[in-house]
Amino acid sequence: MSASHKQQIQQLAASHGFALCAFTRPQVNAIDQQALDRWIDAQMYGDMDYMAEEVRTFRRKNPADMLDKIQTVISLGMPYSAPEDVDVSPQQGVIASYARGDDYHELMKKKLKALARDLDTLLGEHGQRVYVDTAPVLEHALAAKGGLAWQGKHTLSINREYGSWFFLAELFTTANIAPDTEATLHCGTCIDCIPACPTGAIVSPYIVDARLCISYLTIEFKGFIPENLRQPMGNRIFGCDDCQMVCPWNSKVEAPQNDFLKPREDTFLPDLAMLLSLNDEGFRQMFRKSAIKRSKRAGLLRNVCIAMGNSGDPGFVPQLLDILNDAEPLIRGHAVWALKQLAGNDEKVQQYIQVLKDNEQNKDVLAEIASFERKT
Ligand code: SF4
Repeated sequence: MSASHKQQIQQLAASHGFALCAFTRPQVNAIDQQALDRWIDAQMYGDMDYMAEEVRTFRRKNPADMLDKIQTVISLGMPYSAPEDVDVSPQQGVIASYARGDDYHELMKKKLKALARDLDTLLGEHGQRVYVDTAPVLEHALAAKGGLAWQGKHTLSINREYGSWFFLAELFTTANIAPDTEATLHCGTCIDCIPACPTGAIVSPYIVDARLCISYLTIEFKGFIPENLRQPMGNRIFGCDDCQMVCPWNSKVEAPQNDFLKPREDTFLPDLAMLLSLNDEGFRQMFRKSAIKRSKRAGLLRNVCIAMGNSGDPGFVPQLLDILNDAEPLIRGHAVWALKQLAGNDEKVQQYIQVLKDNEQNKDVLAEIASFERKT
């Protein structure tokens, strides 16, 4: 393909919202493969067992296995707005900026497919696959190889123009397009993101232990959050932006002109009490089009209980007592922890729990709560 074809592809990509577009061959560098091996060996993937499996079967390390006769990986970046610097009250929960708009998976998949159709028209029909975060693809390594971005010490991709506020996606194709030049690293001597992580998840430059990362804990992890990590979570109820907020490369980034993923009103600092009142249907309705549905109601309300426990606001106590009757053990267990933070010595809370204990119908609930307390 000629240089003008590349330019045309970049223009088409931009018209679909992919302001960043770079080309590379479908191989990742040995150094990236080795880093992944070390991360898996140290079991830093937490409960994401599928990752270890994908490494064992080489799928994650070898992009060429994903498409027969693949020649080129087109890495694409869609910028989104950075979080605004606003005051947050203890009654509100914080959602990572990328999840405040509509679900990026769905929107980007549609746009990738439209771009793939455009490429068929431009280059003639070729084998193609499109990916957004859903396949075993080393997307940061491929983006770096094509020069789209470099990997920061917090392990996210950074671009000079958009900082780290963009989503990555890939279009694999059998079309033979000349690769771009690999990115060089530009963190220099900076280490600002490492101490900024509330739970110390950046265990050394370029290594994040998912088991400590608030993004993993609040979204992917489905169990009881380790007790020592609950206070540092503060009021972050879905993901975390802290390592990106302090990065100097993000300090001068402007909001993208075409923000297809504008924050929704209901996910901009939502009211914790409102979230804890959501039943299954309410949760489905509210987050039908949002990436937040990934945490499921139990996961989100678990996180809300922790945020309430960290709020210092005893006004949450009646609602937390009410939720002790919820059918979901994960929510009840964390509500108990929150009650202890807010009113551990409160006579009324003790009395309420005693009433629950005395009620024959609640024996099971209390037995479960006691066992969660032992576990945490
Ligand atoms: S905060 Fe500093 S070390 Fe961390 S990613 Fe940004 S430039 Fe790199």
